[in-house]
Amino acid sequence: MARLLSVLCLFSLTLVYVRAQTCKKPADVAILLDASGSIGRKRWPKVAAFTKSLVNSFGVSEEGSHFAVVMYATNTAVVVDFDDFTGAARTPENINAKIDEVDYNEWKGMTYIDRGLDTANRMVFTEENGMRPDKKKILILFTDGKQTKTRDPYTELDIAAQPLKAKGVEIHALGIGKKGKIDVDELGSMATKPEYVYTAESFDDLLPMALRIIELSCDLPRKTTSVKYNAQGNFLSHLFT
Ligand SMILES: [Mg+2]
Repeated sequence: MARLLSVLCLFSLTLVYVRAQTCKKPADVAILLDASGSIGRKRWPKVAAFTKSLVNSFGVSEEGSHFAVVMYATNTAVVVDFDDFTGAARTPENINAKIDEVDYNEWKGMTYIDRGLDTANRMVFTEENGMRPDKKKILILFTDGKQTKTRDPYTELDIAAQPLKAKGVEIHALGIGKKGKIDVDELGSMATKPEYVYTAESFDDLLPMALRIIELSCDLPRKTTSVKYNAQGNFLSHLFT
C-alpha cells in the first residue's frame, strides 16, 4: 500500500512539473525568503527547491528576466543580486547554484519581515543594484510565520511595503502554515492585490504554489489544473491527494 501511495505521489508531482508554464515577459523578480528558526534545517531544502523552480519558470537571461534573492530573519542578506551574473553567464543554472550555496545553519532567529522589505527596497530594487526601470518589477515574499512584534521596534508591514509599491514593484505574499501561525491579513497588507495572497498549510505545497504565482504574476492563462484553489484563488491542495 505504501509503495502504491509513493508511486501515486510521484505521478502527481510529475504532472505538476509537466504543467509548469514559463514566463516569457522579461521582469525583475526578487524573492524574499523567511530564514527564521521556525523553518528548520529539514524544511529549508523545500524552500530552496521552491525558489529554484521560480528561477526556472521566469526565463532568466540577459534579455529576459533578472532574479534576486533576499533572506530575512533577525538580520537580512542579499544572497543573489540582480547584477551577480551578466551576459551569457546570466543563466538559471548559475543563479540556482548560488541558492544551493546558502547555508541555513547560519540563519535562524526572529521573523522581521519589515527588515526584509526594507533590504529589498534599499539594496535590490534600485538602479545602482541592477533594477531596470523599464521592466516589470515583482517581489515574491515567503514566510511561515508573522512579523515579530514583541522584541525590538518594528515597522507595520503596510508601511514597510510602501516604498516598494511606490517604485511599481508588484508584491505577492505567500504564507505556509496552519491557521494562527500565519496571518492572512498581514499578508494582505503587503500584497498589491488580494489575489496576490497565497496560503497553504504544508511546505509540500510550496512547489505547486509556485505555478500559481507564475500564472498570476505573468498574466498566463490558468493551466495548473493539478492543484485546487479556494474561491479567493488561494492554493488548497493537489487533486491527487
Ligand atoms: Mg518564523
